[in-house]
Amino acid sequence: MRWFAKLGKRVVQLRMQRTLKSRDIQQDYEPMDLQLPPSEEPSKAKQLLALLTLEEKITLLSGQDEFCIPGIARVGLKPVWTSDATLGLRGWNAPVTDFPAAVAMAATWNTPLITEVGERIGAECRALGIGVLLAPGVNLARVPVCGRNFEYFGEDPFLTGQMAGAYILGVKRHPVITTVKHFACNNSEYDRHKSNSVVDERTLRELYLPAFKQALDAGSLGVMTSYNQVNGTYASEHAYLLEGILRGEWQFDGLVVSDWNSLYSTDGVLTSGVDLEMPGGKYLQKERVMDALGRGVVKEDAIDKKVLHLLSAYEKAGLFTCPLADPVLQVGDANHRKTALQVARESVVLLKNEGPVLPLNPSWKLCIGGDNAFRVAQGGGSSMIQLLEPPKPFASSMESHATCLPRHWYRNASYRKKVAASDAIVLVVGFNHIEESEAYDRPWELDRATLRSIEHASKLNKRTILIVQSGGALHLTPFNDKISAILWTSYLGSSTAEALRDILFGTVSPSGKLPFSIAFSLSDYRSMRNYPSDYASFSLARIHKGQGDPKVRQVSSIDYTENLMVGYRQFDSEGPSPLYCFGHGLSYAAFSYEDLKITEQANGCFSVIFSLANVSAVSAAEVAQLYIHPLVPKVYRAKQELKGFKKVFLKAGEKTKVAFSVSSEAFSRWDVDSWQLFSDEGQYEIRIGSSSRDIRLHQAVEYKERKP
Ligand code: BGC
Repeated sequence: MRWFAKLGKRVVQLRMQRTLKSRDIQQDYEPMDLQLPPSEEPSKAKQLLALLTLEEKITLLSGQDEFCIPGIARVGLKPVWTSDATLGLRGWNAPVTDFPAAVAMAATWNTPLITEVGERIGAECRALGIGVLLAPGVNLARVPVCGRNFEYFGEDPFLTGQMAGAYILGVKRHPVITTVKHFACNNSEYDRHKSNSVVDERTLRELYLPAFKQALDAGSLGVMTSYNQVNGTYASEHAYLLEGILRGEWQFDGLVVSDWNSLYSTDGVLTSGVDLEMPGGKYLQKERVMDALGRGVVKEDAIDKKVLHLLSAYEKAGLFTCPLADPVLQVGDANHRKTALQVARESVVLLKNEGPVLPLNPSWKLCIGGDNAFRVAQGGGSSMIQLLEPPKPFASSMESHATCLPRHWYRNASYRKKVAASDAIVLVVGFNHIEESEAYDRPWELDRATLRSIEHASKLNKRTILIVQSGGALHLTPFNDKISAILWTSYLGSSTAEALRDILFGTVSPSGKLPFSIAFSLSDYRSMRNYPSDYASFSLARIHKGQGDPKVRQVSSIDYTENLMVGYRQFDSEGPSPLYCFGHGLSYAAFSYEDLKITEQANGCFSVIFSLANVSAVSAAEVAQLYIHPLVPKVYRAKQELKGFKKVFLKAGEKTKVAFSVSSEAFSRWDVDSWQLFSDEGQYEIRIGSSSRDIRLHQAVEYKERKP
């Protein structure tokens, strides 16, 4: 990376740290004391709205501070604080728990565990008096180089929706509003203020919207819009997406908040846009709103609607009755750290293990190298957290076992000798918050020094083990065949060292599965063929000018011409074969799949049951995946789609039955004629696999529409 790009990225990171002013949480230990006169109206939100003056209502259209939604003291409405939580609550100068990144959560494929994460994060919100959580993020990994892929749950809408739903169910156990983000088609960070995602209706409905719908079904009371345009209109004022789909079809009556500085006009937003502008009033400030009212752009009832969405979300979440903060709950609680560690362990994906070289023999002499062995890498941007106690990197937790290698060790003869003489070498490589962040995309390749280190290590020592940390797919091909064992993982926070040790030494068998496909080369992804070729370039002016003067903001299109052919949908339908497929992940154990029985139920669902056995001497978990393959598709469809998965822990030699219920929805596609999700009658194959390309059991079924 050229030095000025690196410097520019550091400046962006500093600007995004948005450290919060300290505040007195004590005052939030008391519930709001709403000044409501006796009324027949059951909704407190409506009662409150009726008491507010026009000026007070306009105050509630925008943030009062970087992370604060204003209150109206006259009626007892308190300010409500917000926070991000991709890697744990951030910016609060408090000893919070740092959780593994969202993509690591997805790699666990363990929904009950992610509900536990949501519950823990909800508790940390309550400990710090945060009423609105700016999570989860559900944009799909359409292009592998998107700087924010680590904040999302991978390339598949079903997996993403399940993960988001599970997370929200956990947070919802507390009076905290989740805001599912970024609505919609914010699948890259390249010029995010000036990009227009051009996407057809079917692709929108089948790929990019379902996870939002699933999050709302799970009870999210908030939605955050995105920076980009969708088919020519900014998401923050998109009548079709916000009024048509979200409020209309999905009947969502909660809060729609803007992403930070993502409004581009006043009139568009007032007529059909977000309810709340964050962080501060720019386009929804008093003068501009009064001016629009004066010009007759909207009437006061449009403002009322927006304020009611905010207040209703507060009421439904319980913010009017529960105190905003709970002194009994603690950030960094030991149980929260345990959950974070469990996610970290379960998220590590063993991509290959020749020999097998892993698990490591504890008596082996090791060499440890790679930049990420000596730092606890995080993704950057708004997800980054300031920990009071910096966590121990992997290398320092291994010092007694191992020789630590400096960055350019291969230039030094004595290190080369040590590497050749050691029993194994472990390199922890990958990106960090400077390379992988919102606001810009990240490179596909690892940096030159890292590549040279891998090259030298693999030549000197046959037992070279590589741990790669990233938010998504990256270029592994140049060294894949030269290395005995490769593990992929993402940013795991304080749990990094312990989780990696547990996996390397076999205390825990790996059970993570890839939530995205890793191709041989970047051009293998069809989505990259329509992507700016200078995706990894960086310019401060480009990043910051976008949100300002519309005259300097020239919008350019990102055409989603690959349509449905994203990730494994493309690789399985059209090729080429990926290097590592979606759902792939090895174990130290071995599993057998047998006795598939599929029966059609009276309600049109299929009940799918099979036996899963751990046929090894190692206790471990397996993720059984269910795919639907249309045998005689009536319209163009992906070869197969994920429609179910279960993570099952089995002791050595143990066997169990695994069951799925496959509903008609699993066969559906968006029908552009009837403008709805529709399941074609006909033959489908139900496939059960250990990955998308390791299908162990399958059976054809005939799907018939059942009239109720
Ligand atoms: C991000 C959002 C985040 C917000 C507040 C923005 O830059 O895009 O995802 O919630 O900052 O930190």
